[in-house]
Amino acid sequence: MNTSFFKPILLLAIFASLSNLVHSAAIYPIQNAAILAGSQFDIKVELDSVVSIEEVDVRLNGKPISSTIKQQVSFIPNEAGKGSSLLYRDVQLAKAGPYTLTVKTSQATQQVTWDVYASGPRKVKNIILFVGDGMTIANRTSARVLSKGISEGKYQGKLSFDDMPNMALIGTSGSDSLITDSANSMSAYTTGHKTAVNAMGVYVSRASDNLSHPKVETIAELIKRKTNMSVGIVSDAELQDATPGAMVAHTRRRADKSYIADQLLASGAEVILGGGSAYFYPQTSNGSKRKDEKNLVEQFKLKGYELAFTKNELLKMGNAVGTKKLFGVFHPDNMDGSLDRFFLKKNTVEQYPDQPDLTDMTRSAINVLSKNPNGFFLMVEAALIDKFNHPLDWERAAFDTIMLSNAVQIAKDFAKTHPDTLIIVTPDHTHSGSISGVVNDAKPGPLREKVGVYADAGYPNYPKANIEGYPNQIDVSKRLAFFYGNYPDHYETLHPKLDGTFQPAVKDESGKYVANPKYIQLQEDAIHVGGNLPSHQESGVHTADDAVLNAIGPGAEQFRGFMDNTEVFKVMVKSLGLGQ
Ligand SMILES: [Zn+2]
Repeated sequence: MNTSFFKPILLLAIFASLSNLVHSAAIYPIQNAAILAGSQFDIKVELDSVVSIEEVDVRLNGKPISSTIKQQVSFIPNEAGKGSSLLYRDVQLAKAGPYTLTVKTSQATQQVTWDVYASGPRKVKNIILFVGDGMTIANRTSARVLSKGISEGKYQGKLSFDDMPNMALIGTSGSDSLITDSANSMSAYTTGHKTAVNAMGVYVSRASDNLSHPKVETIAELIKRKTNMSVGIVSDAELQDATPGAMVAHTRRRADKSYIADQLLASGAEVILGGGSAYFYPQTSNGSKRKDEKNLVEQFKLKGYELAFTKNELLKMGNAVGTKKLFGVFHPDNMDGSLDRFFLKKNTVEQYPDQPDLTDMTRSAINVLSKNPNGFFLMVEAALIDKFNHPLDWERAAFDTIMLSNAVQIAKDFAKTHPDTLIIVTPDHTHSGSISGVVNDAKPGPLREKVGVYADAGYPNYPKANIEGYPNQIDVSKRLAFFYGNYPDHYETLHPKLDGTFQPAVKDESGKYVANPKYIQLQEDAIHVGGNLPSHQESGVHTADDAVLNAIGPGAEQFRGFMDNTEVFKVMVKSLGLGQ
């Protein structure tokens, strides 16, 4: 018998039943979600037809859901014209094990299975999580070349996180897409749940309001609800940016920056340091980006926070014996990177000359937080690595990777006297970019002929780094040839951008991004590079390449091999015993 005749029919039948499962409804948390026992989350069931609540049978492990979950269901008869929805807010499942949620109507049956896991007892006192936003292997290598030097094939030193004993490759994709953004990927670290691009602390449902999507609890909220530990949030980006925001916020859109600023205040985190002052002041004050009259700085003060607006104020308040809570903002927007602050004085350094370094913020945060005998959780973001990888400005990214290394060293020094501290250093996602050789100005011929590869590359001639680990010159005659793998149209100059961050592309009259003519005007042998990204992209984009995580301290041995980003949350909550 010729069975191939039947295959299409069989496939069609399977497909029909699958599509029935996929399209007729959605349930959040999604299939295969891992949920910390006792953590708070919302359950949402979306049906694709309008039903009455009596027609819906919701069961958890075969029993009516009301026998396990005491929360009142809120019923949305017809959500956005797409069908009825059921929402259970602030649910907790105390017991570990597999859970199956089954939803039956007269038309369809939907089902998801979750793995609810317990944490066991607490094993560490403190966790310091460093996020090198968008940090790639090439960022690390270029930072090591510039900071430590390399001779006859051997590096003359290591970055502070190079010699951590444990390492893992981290997968960073979200529930909706292979390529993540920082909201999505940081949310996986802070909640243990996958979400979608631009979302944090929620599953993206069909709700029309950004703040109404089903929520999952963040590690900062868990700590505040279940322990007497302190929490610190440090970033050199705006504090309302995706990475610090995902510590405290629940929104479908990371652009809800006033809301995220409100959540920072509401979080009760003892230390909050970074940029983004524009969202902490009322709309009537100069430079504010709020649309209301809230003065969050005043409210931080009323809540007993010491305030700092300059590096000196930070050092003073960070060192003061009496400081228990510290709020510092040092820039209306993202802070400036170390190449500009220490050497070039470009971008906004002249306007804001009093910005602290990530090392100052890390040291102050640890000083304040470590006064709590119950321990602390501190998140420090080196945000500008990502902000400089986007515009293909590898030197600035390398300098901020060196700055991250210096900040991590402060945490390692603290851990020497506080060995019950777990330190994790990880990117949230990666960028493209690789070191392909050495640009040598002495080589004859047009610009591209100056790129030496293999034996022709030799070594760069950056001067020996200063005590902070930075070389005091980057426009040397033999420089790294660092090329990004995805880009808009741009001019390749093979020179560092001494006049401010590279701006590879600008919009033309038709709205497409084209190579920024500034660079061919500045350097007439610059090479025009046709973009390999869609023409609406103004800069390089994140990649799905694995992120490299390093860790040291009790529990660090759980980081090994390839891991999903949600598993980083799992290791942290298990270490802190947050799901007992
Ligand atoms: Zn980015």
